[in-house]
Amino acid sequence: MADFILPQNTSPTRQASRRLDGPIHAERHVNIVCVGAGASGLLLAYKLQRHFKNYSLTVFEKNPAVSGTWYENKYPGCACDVPSHNYTWSFEPKLDWSGVYASSREIYKYFDDFARKYRLFDYVKTSHQVTGAYWDDATQGYDITVNDLTTGQEIRTHCDILINAGGVLNNWRWPAIPGLDKYKGTLLHTANWDDSVNLEGKHVGLIGNGSSGIQVLPKIQPIVKQVTTFIREPTWVSPVQGLEQHVYSDEEKRDFATKAGQLTEYRKGIERGLNGQFGIFLKNSKPNNDTHDYMIEQMKEKLQDSFLEDKLIPKWHVGCRRLTPGVGYLESLGKENVSVIYGEINEVTEKGCLCDDGKEYPVDVLICATGFDTTFKPRFPLIGPDKRNLQDVWKDEARSYLGLAAPGFPNYLIFLGPNCPIGNGPVLSAIEAQADHMLKLIDRYQTHNIASFTPRQEAVDDFISHKDDFMTRSVWADPCRSWYKNRPDGPITALWPGSTLHYIEAMNELRMEDWEVKYSGNRFAWLGNGYSQTELDDTADWAYYIREVDDDEPATRGGKRRKLTKSGTVRATAGVNFTGRSSEEAEKPLRSNI
Ligand code: NAP
Repeated sequence: MADFILPQNTSPTRQASRRLDGPIHAERHVNIVCVGAGASGLLLAYKLQRHFKNYSLTVFEKNPAVSGTWYENKYPGCACDVPSHNYTWSFEPKLDWSGVYASSREIYKYFDDFARKYRLFDYVKTSHQVTGAYWDDATQGYDITVNDLTTGQEIRTHCDILINAGGVLNNWRWPAIPGLDKYKGTLLHTANWDDSVNLEGKHVGLIGNGSSGIQVLPKIQPIVKQVTTFIREPTWVSPVQGLEQHVYSDEEKRDFATKAGQLTEYRKGIERGLNGQFGIFLKNSKPNNDTHDYMIEQMKEKLQDSFLEDKLIPKWHVGCRRLTPGVGYLESLGKENVSVIYGEINEVTEKGCLCDDGKEYPVDVLICATGFDTTFKPRFPLIGPDKRNLQDVWKDEARSYLGLAAPGFPNYLIFLGPNCPIGNGPVLSAIEAQADHMLKLIDRYQTHNIASFTPRQEAVDDFISHKDDFMTRSVWADPCRSWYKNRPDGPITALWPGSTLHYIEAMNELRMEDWEVKYSGNRFAWLGNGYSQTELDDTADWAYYIREVDDDEPATRGGKRRKLTKSGTVRATAGVNFTGRSSEEAEKPLRSNI
């Protein structure tokens, strides 16, 4: 028998009054708008569809396709440096990844296939860009404006809950160098790549040595006439070791598909390895110290050049900036057709870059591997009840509630918001934990007569203060320039104060004491007409609690965790890890790919 649900399209107040007609916990209709159909937006659609009734969902996506960053980033060499079998949802393995590290195209297809398999396109409106969200007190929801990029028309809609899954590494940006608009050659940005540009035989300029620049150089160096790469900060480039690139044979793929448990064990082994690396990010820890010594040795061996060693090996701790395994990057720097210009670019001229050594470096094509706007401001005005715009509130420092909400902005949730574990460990697992946390909130909203929920300011202040204290112990606080913070000595806004497993456990339960909740009418209206849902379901066992043995779930957090993690079943030092070494060895120097 169907559960009793409250009718759609009635105001929260009217829905509250209707609660006396229904049993306890009757579900009110909830109308959700999600911004973005990248990995997070698609996961939200999947989970809502799987778990919820009496809801509507529209996912607005500005691109003509889903998959977000993996649709947009197509530059030569673009790939994910997390092993492919662990760049999947925990519940949705892919049996036929081509190799250990997958190209952006293959990852794009994984998420596109995921959307097709579960009919998630039913919720997605592609080529629709959200341009504004305005809180409306009367309806306790947001009025949303959307630009239909195909017709150019503005659409207006409304939602009870707004979820921003717009991504953190999405708003790519040109470097702030004067004269960029004067350049007469071909200008490219790695995150907005133009496939039609032929680099063969050209003299190419490459700005930046972040993860994107490190991936591009070895791919273009063999085909172009010359590369001049402009670098202004040293960076740790980690060697590839352990699980190196390897193309899976047909036999391996067949085994993954047919041998029970084989792929799961393989994925678990890699994930344990990824989760075991957190210590590297703590200052003066053994893993960090050992990795430091090991990397210096590796970088010197590959560079074989005292000028480059001096300029490229950082003084700050390993991991302050995101580490990228540099497959062939350092070796490329020493090739005959590559020159490294170290320092600031003062100006871009019609021909190329004018640097602080006073010289002009002309190039035919200028590639900016210069990253993204990572201020965490929404990309559209988000106006709260007191008419403040979150874009202004987070102009200098984004202060969130556990990476998923903003004080003063009710019924607004964010995937991978400020201080999420985006560089702390496996990221898709963190997105899943966030989605599950959001579902708990939405469930409560639906069944508890809630009109609005907003994180309390004092809860956010306490969280930020704890986070800042923790960060002093982390390598991220060193004075490097990194998108993890707005300035080298600024607060760290992009990372979680702990490991990914730590975040997953923190996300595990709702802390309603941190939320300011407004009800539609009486806070106990959800008690309804005195009947339980069970009594209205004549296919349910009305005496479900009578049993033969005490088979209760553990009552405490510790007990639940031990059961969930199968504590006592895995020997700590026997974990297979992705470096191919024992976990004990894995405490020693290693690369990081998170
Ligand atoms: P990024 O890490 O922010 O690096 C930007 C680079 O551009 C830096 O070297 C920066 O130099 C340089 N730059 C910026 N403005 C400049 C200017 N005015 N003059 C000279 N140089 C300038 O960006 P990204 O490489 O695109 O990577 C961003 C993130 O995307 C990565 O950290 C990673 O999380 C993700 N990503 C992941 C993968 C993957 O395989 N999983 C691949 C690519 C990217 P300074 O450091 O001196 O500012």
